[in-house]
Amino acid sequence: MQALDLYSLPEPGPTGFLARYRRPLARPLADGWVAAWSEPGDLVLDPFCQDTTVLRAALAAGRRVVAATRNPVLALLLRVEAVPPAAGPLEAALERLRNAPKADAPLGEYLDQLYATACSRCGATVGAEAFIWDRATATPVAREYTCPRCGHAGREPVPPEEVPRHLASDTPPFHRRLVAERLRVEGASSRLVERLLDLYTPRSLYALTALLLKLEVLYSASTLLDPLRAALLHTLDAASKLHVVDEAGWRPAGSLVPPRRFREANVWRTFVAAMRALAEGSTRAALPLVAGPGAERQTAPGTACLSSEPLPRLAGSLAGQAVLIISQLPRFDPAFAALSYLWSGWLLGKEGSRAALHLLHQRAPGDVRYLRALQAALTALAPALAAHGRLALAFQAPGTRYLENLLVAAAAAGLTPVHTWHGLLDDQPGLPLAVARVEHHVAFARSAVATPLGDPTAAARRCAIRTAGRVLAARAEPAPFGALHGPLWSALGAEGLLAGSRSAEQAEELRRRMEAAVAEALQGSNALRAVAVPGDERRAALWVLAGERALAPPLADRVEALVRGALASGPLDVVALQRRVLGQLPEGQVPAWPLIWACLESYGAMVEGGRWALAEAEAEGAVQAWQARMCEALEILGQRLGYTSSTADGELAWVGDGLLTFRMQTGAEVGCLLSQGPLEAGRRVLVIPERRVDLWRRKFAAVPLWRAELERAGWAFLREAALLTLLEGPADRARFEAALGLEGGAGQMALFGR
Ligand SMILES: [Zn+2]
Repeated sequence: MQALDLYSLPEPGPTGFLARYRRPLARPLADGWVAAWSEPGDLVLDPFCQDTTVLRAALAAGRRVVAATRNPVLALLLRVEAVPPAAGPLEAALERLRNAPKADAPLGEYLDQLYATACSRCGATVGAEAFIWDRATATPVAREYTCPRCGHAGREPVPPEEVPRHLASDTPPFHRRLVAERLRVEGASSRLVERLLDLYTPRSLYALTALLLKLEVLYSASTLLDPLRAALLHTLDAASKLHVVDEAGWRPAGSLVPPRRFREANVWRTFVAAMRALAEGSTRAALPLVAGPGAERQTAPGTACLSSEPLPRLAGSLAGQAVLIISQLPRFDPAFAALSYLWSGWLLGKEGSRAALHLLHQRAPGDVRYLRALQAALTALAPALAAHGRLALAFQAPGTRYLENLLVAAAAAGLTPVHTWHGLLDDQPGLPLAVARVEHHVAFARSAVATPLGDPTAAARRCAIRTAGRVLAARAEPAPFGALHGPLWSALGAEGLLAGSRSAEQAEELRRRMEAAVAEALQGSNALRAVAVPGDERRAALWVLAGERALAPPLADRVEALVRGALASGPLDVVALQRRVLGQLPEGQVPAWPLIWACLESYGAMVEGGRWALAEAEAEGAVQAWQARMCEALEILGQRLGYTSSTADGELAWVGDGLLTFRMQTGAEVGCLLSQGPLEAGRRVLVIPERRVDLWRRKFAAVPLWRAELERAGWAFLREAALLTLLEGPADRARFEAALGLEGGAGQMALFGR
């Protein structure tokens, strides 16, 4: 069986412009959901469109499709990505711009000269790639350049005699006024507009605007206008003061406050690089795109419709109801919203400012505000969903609130979760009721369940215990709260316990009440309990079932076997591997992503085309040879240490003035060791291949209780490399003991993270 849900792996868009602000739905997810939940000819809607993924997936499957975004700069990128411009015309346009006259010089040279600096080795005048400014003194302190004459390159202080020229920045106030004028529409405060413009140095603002005016003159009526604006949009992003400079280079600041040291990129060179990136992305197939007013009504088969209508109006004007509504849940990012307003007005004029005005009023996402926005969006979308349709959302979120808010808001909009999937992106134990990063997929249907009679809080407590118990029993291993939280809240939603709120305030009240009920139920339950992690009792705990040990192998061991099996079946990419592994696990058992990845790296080897195959060392013959080699090494070592060796049942024993049993275990299976019970006599050692060390570490990091339990049961680890090293030097028992880590903690177990 193929899995419907997979971890979303980051897939860069065709050009990567504004990539850090965008969170598109992963293509394998979109493909799987479209195939599972719609039929050819059905209407698919992506209401929070971030890129062309859903458009492409739906069209490839013969569906009709509408994507919507109310962000004008995202819409611009979508148009360009849907219909990639050909490389030839892009290169011609770049040359034309480069050579367009500007104050007696070609534009490219003129703009590059704004960043002129003197090479410290040969004295030649070169255009710097960037300057690094000190915010407090408002002066450029360093420059990055490569001298075309002598080849000298680096990041060096700005020569003092140059500083006045960089400060003067021949910036006529005209350009700033021109941009400010475009941004000033009713509802946008002048103060905010000025603050946004202050995110650029006068030189950047001048260069960006000069470039924009030139391309508006030369390409106003051309199909190249959008691609050129997209390249300039990337330049607007890269040339702002919002980039931190550090040892390694530079990175985005992540807020609207320029860092103490910020980077001022050369606008012309950044634009040229963006045009080249566009030309490289031009090989993607063009979609038959319909954009602009009324696009959402023109859903002919084979047409990709891009709408900019607000959701209530979009839902009302669709040609029929959508059988599938899929999206990545949008994240509230007030910084990106404000920048989008700035860039929309700058690039598209007053029309862009007006279309983006709603973004200017996004504030920091308080819970109630977030709930209100979600509730409004889902309430607007619900009527657009066909009675048998699915509304499916994916998102990666830290903590508990995003999922809880979504489920409560959906319940208020008459939507019930009918398919849910929750995958841990971080599997380390945390506080008993805390959640690290999780990828959630939730598909809703318009079938409001009746709220159960009786006390909803009592019902929620029962639901919590039942669901958590079921999850723990199925996983057959201790689990962090993150593994319980998603299934538990999805169950509350499916049982109708999250419905009934009208306002966002009521919704938040309901969410809090349910959160408290869940915490109270779990903490007061006799069926399960949170066990503190040894050595970290105050901060970390794992949930376990009280009572008998599970009979099934732990989920981590089953995943290891499944990954190995998938790799043995032939080369496959990570998506195919996930489909195989997750598809063979019973519903609701989702292993953490770091575990899947650790198994892949432990057993796999990268082959051609980014695919993975079983590593040669993992073939059956190689494994047997390894075991024989380890046995031989142990026999030699034992003899030197004065023991007699004997083998039985795949184990080797040293008999002498004590008894040591060695097991050559090629896999990192924990379950078989835990179920073995206490030792009757002597001590025992697990000999493990080097290739498995990281996987053991991973498993112990996720479940430190296992490490403690294995230690208690008398297991010591001996790495392949440590054994072979012992053979080389003098044979004495102290060295052997140190390699095992039974003396002073200096040995093997320390390798497992203690
Ligand atoms: Zn030079």
